Parts: sequence; C-alpha cells; structure tokens
Amino acid sequence: VLTPALIRFEYTRAFERPDPLLPNTWIVVRVDGRSFHRLSTHYSFAKPNDIRAINLANAAASAVLRSLPDLVFAYGQSDEYSFVFERATALFERRESKLVSTVVSCFTANYCFLWDKYFGESAEGLGGTSPAVRLDDGLGGGLPTFDGRAVCYPTMTNLRDYLSWRQADCHINNLYNTTFWAMVLRGDMGNKEAEEELKGSFSKDKNEILFSRFGINYNNEPEMFKKGNVVYRDVSPSLQSELQFNSADNAAQFGVLDAATPVLSDNSHNAATANTDPGAPNQLSKTQLEKERKKKAKAVIRIEHTDIIKDEFWLRRPWILG
Ligand code: ATP
Ligand code: ATP
Ligand code: MG
Ligand code: MG
Ligand code: MG
Ligand code: MG
Ligand code: MG
Repeated sequence: VLTPALIRFEYTRAFERPDPLLPNTWIVVRVDGRSFHRLSTHYSFAKPNDIRAINLANAAASAVLRSLPDLVFAYGQSDEYSFVFERATALFERRESKLVSTVVSCFTANYCFLWDKYFGESAEGLGGTSPAVRLDDGLGGGLPTFDGRAVCYPTMTNLRDYLSWRQADCHINNLYNTTFWAMVLRGDMGNKEAEEELKGSFSKDKNEILFSRFGINYNNEPEMFKKGNVVYRDVSPSLQSELQFNSADNAAQFGVLDAATPVLSDNSHNAATANTDPGAPNQLSKTQLEKERKKKAKAVIRIEHTDIIKDEFWLRRPWILG
C-alpha cells in the first residue's frame, strides 16, 4: 500500500547498489571464522585438530546445503568453508550481497545451534559464564562469527584449481601444525623454540622430525586432517539406476580419462540441459526444472575426506559440476 510517507521516503532505495554476479560462472562463497585462533584457545580446542570442531563445522555445512538446493559442493578445512553454487543458479538474481549474507548467516546460525551437540554438556557452553568472554575482546561476546566473500570462477579448470588450492593449503598447514604441536606437547619445546626451528623448513624436514623424534608417520595421520572435508549432493540409489555409463562427454570436458575408471553420466540431465551454444546458461523448461528440483531434494548429502586435486573424484561424480 503506497501511503504518502512511503512515497516521500522510498527514493532512498535508489541509493542501493546493484550487485549481480557474472552469469554462467561458478559462484563460490567462502566463510572464515573470526579470530578463531583466540576462540579455539578460549574453548580449549584440542591442538592441532579438535575433531569436535571439525564435525560441528561439517554438520553446519550440511545444513547449509540442505537449506540452499542450488549449492552443489562444499569444501572445509580449519575455520573456513567454501560453498559452490551450480553454474546456472538464479538464486536471488545472483545478487552478491544476498548470496554471501545468506550463506554466512545460515552457516553461523547452524554452527551456534549445533555447538552443544558436538561439544557436549561437559564442555563450557557457548558464550560462557566467564566475565573475560563477555568483555569486548574481539570475539563478539564469545560467540563464533564468520566473514564471507564471493568469487566467480568462469571455467571448470579455474574452479578446480581454486578447490585444489584450498586442499593444498589444508595439507601444508596440517603438516606444519602436526609437527609444531608434537614438538610443543610431546617434545617439551617452547612455542617460540618450535616456531624458530620450523622456520624455512621443507615438507621432508617436518616428516623427518615427526618420524625420528616422535615415531609419527605423517602418511598414517587421519584423512580428515590431511585432506579436509568434502561435501556434496549424491544422487539417491533409485536415481543411480537411471544413470548410464558414458565416458565420452566427460573425457572431453576434463581432457583426461583413466580408461579403467567407469564414469557415471546422467543422461536425463544431459538431455534436459542440451544447449547448442556452449557459452549460454542452461535453459530448462518448467517441468525440467521441477524434475531437477525433485532430484536434488532426494539426493543424499555426503561428507568425505578425500583427494579433490586429482581427476578421479570429479570423473566419478560428473553430476556435481555437470
Ligand atoms: P581471522 O579472523 O583473520 O580469520 P583467525 O584467528 O580466525 O583470524 P585463521 O587464519 O582463520 O585466523 O586461522 C584459524 C585458526 O583457528 C587456526 O590457526 C587454528 O588455530 C584454529 N582452528 C581452526 N579449526 C581448528 C580445529 N578444528 N582444531 C583446533 N584449532 C582450530
Ligand atoms: P525475502 O526472503 O525475500 O526477504 P520475506 O518473506 O522475508 O522474503 P520481507 O519483505 O523481508 O519478505 O518481509 C518480511 C515479512 O516478515 C513481513 O512481511 C512480515 O510478514 C514478517 N514479519 C517481520 N517482522 C515481523 C514481526 N515482528 N511480527 C510479525 N511478522 C513479521
Ligand atoms: Mg583469515
Ligand atoms: Mg579465521
Ligand atoms: Mg581461516
Ligand atoms: Mg525478508
Ligand atoms: Mg524484509
């Protein structure tokens, strides 16, 4: 209803900045915990990897995928999570601020809501009772908060390189942290001392320190710590039976194909998205869109700790980046 007051003031809407993201690109929203170095100390996270915190972040990420069906993939490590929207998404008309803020607040809300489930009642509750947390110490009153940003990746290579970068970062940091905390917690070294020794060291040096001083073979560390957390929508068993083996399309797309690797290709999807102009976003009819929506709703959300740098993961799950 347009009252005189609304008419008088609504011109201020024109000050809003249009912020649609580039069409036909994969939109990645990455969230990162604010001051988690301090937050993890405050809540006594196990070092270097608190498995409760990892499971909590994974549960929050799964909830984000359930809440936003246009998300096809997510990768998490440390206090960050990257969420990948399907290339053709039209969610919020691809407006950057809407997409970023919705993902960040959905992740944050679920992270806080699920905290007790993963940290248990024995641990100090979120927010805490200690007056120190209540002070404005940069922890927002002791509650976990996250920042977020969106980046558009125009090619599958760019997108996969982005995800490879995050997984490589996970590995490098985990090797460093595993070595550092072994030296501090088991080698009785001071933080400064351990930091000093590790400065400028190579991977092989850290592997050597772990093995010779602590009997740790880094290769035997849990995959969850080395590889991080891979979340994706898997098609349901009933849908899997509809899928047929077809490697030609994917070989062309990835440029590489291990002949021994059976590649699942979703023909119904290919037919629905058949488009002669490779640069144009997929144009789906109403019924096709509805079919896609139902398929996504039926899909199971999986969490794995596996390599996403090599081709195999993607060749075996071609529907993810479709
Ligand atoms: P910023 O606000 O700039 O992001 P930050 O303190 O969060 O600052 P990050 O570079 O994001 O800095 O690093 C996150 C830190 O959170 C890690 O250095 C690590 O100390 C801690 N951390 C994250 N996840 C875990 C975990 N599962 N177990 C233990 N510590 C963790
Ligand atoms: P969108 O996701 O696009 O924002 P929306 O349903 O949230 O969709 P808004 O334009 O944001 O639409 O409108 C918010 C609606 O929330 C209002 O129309 C009203 O129905 C409801 N609402 C908000 N605050 C209250 C309140 N305090 N009490 C009752 N209803 C409320
Ligand atoms: Mg940071
Ligand atoms: Mg952080
Ligand atoms: Mg971080
Ligand atoms: Mg609203
Ligand atoms: Mg509103």
